Amino acid sequence: MIRICFTILHIINQPSFMMNFSRTFLSLACLMTTASVIAQDKVLNIYSARHYPSDEVMYNDFTKATGIKINRVDADDAGILARLRSEGSASPADVILLVDAARLWRAEVDGLFQPIKSKVLEDAIPANLRAKPADNGGTAWFGLSTRARVMVYDKVKFNKTDVDSYEKLADPKFKGSLCIRSGSHPYNLSLFGALSEHIGPQKTEAWLKSVVDNMARSPKGGDTDQIRAVAAGECGVAVTNSYYLARLMRSSKPEDRAVAEKVGVVFPNQSSWGTHMNVAGGAVARHAKNTDNAIKFLEYLASPAAQNHFANGNNEWPAAKGVNFDNPALKSMIGSGFKSELLPVSAVGMNQIKVQQMLDRVGFK
Ligand code: FE
Repeated sequence: MIRICFTILHIINQPSFMMNFSRTFLSLACLMTTASVIAQDKVLNIYSARHYPSDEVMYNDFTKATGIKINRVDADDAGILARLRSEGSASPADVILLVDAARLWRAEVDGLFQPIKSKVLEDAIPANLRAKPADNGGTAWFGLSTRARVMVYDKVKFNKTDVDSYEKLADPKFKGSLCIRSGSHPYNLSLFGALSEHIGPQKTEAWLKSVVDNMARSPKGGDTDQIRAVAAGECGVAVTNSYYLARLMRSSKPEDRAVAEKVGVVFPNQSSWGTHMNVAGGAVARHAKNTDNAIKFLEYLASPAAQNHFANGNNEWPAAKGVNFDNPALKSMIGSGFKSELLPVSAVGMNQIKVQQMLDRVGFK
């Protein structure tokens, strides 16, 4: 486009060519088009379900390093997928950031991503934290950070050993004590989908039934609300993503830190298959117009600097191999480390429909 424009400019500036007015008009139009093409080259449109204000630093760093301006649309995972479907090929989205394996899988299956080939991403991100290779050898999405689904408990009423496996949440001793957000929330769909891989669908459904029987209240609120409810004595045990607890531990508000201090935390299933890990990940949109910039951005998110930010800024764990980080809250939670589940997250995502049917049958709202 730019080359065509320069050729036109050359022709119209020949002395024999049309009147001055037309010449000026064409030159201006051409220069404006060129400027807009150059501007488009330096733009990236992101649809993001990452609801974490601390991510702003990463977006700014990327723009500073590359000159690529980021336009961001923030919505929840379901909202983003609905928007992509309705926009179709007219969608301006280049990069999609989602915060759960089940959603990433859904979007992949619905054809909302385009498989990409990037040696940088393939080298950085372990195979179990990304989509299965597509037919063309590309990958539909890459996990960029991980989060553990942990238990918090009332230290007065229970001990660590009472909640050291997900299976134990079915124990009748928790009757009237268990708090958890909606079963249909992607974080729980993925946890239950993982459980189904580990213990089989029949045992998982029986377990879900017992979990419903043990609930202190009908599921409501997000993970932080469950932690607060344990601290307030309304619940004896709750399930949460690790970063919500770390956020309370590192909060500038003393009342938040007091909540975190009141509860105990356990990384379950250390003596069996490990604590369930979910991913937040990224993909290139099917109809991306700025594909090169999109891949560049995902590669940046897998870099040690961005991976460190996921850990220090949002209390997640890096997905990339061999990245060191220094987050005191995470370190105090895990001590010398913990055993994490090694299931391919893509398999977990695939189970979500089956799991939703189980939830409907056992009355898990
Ligand atoms: Fe979250």
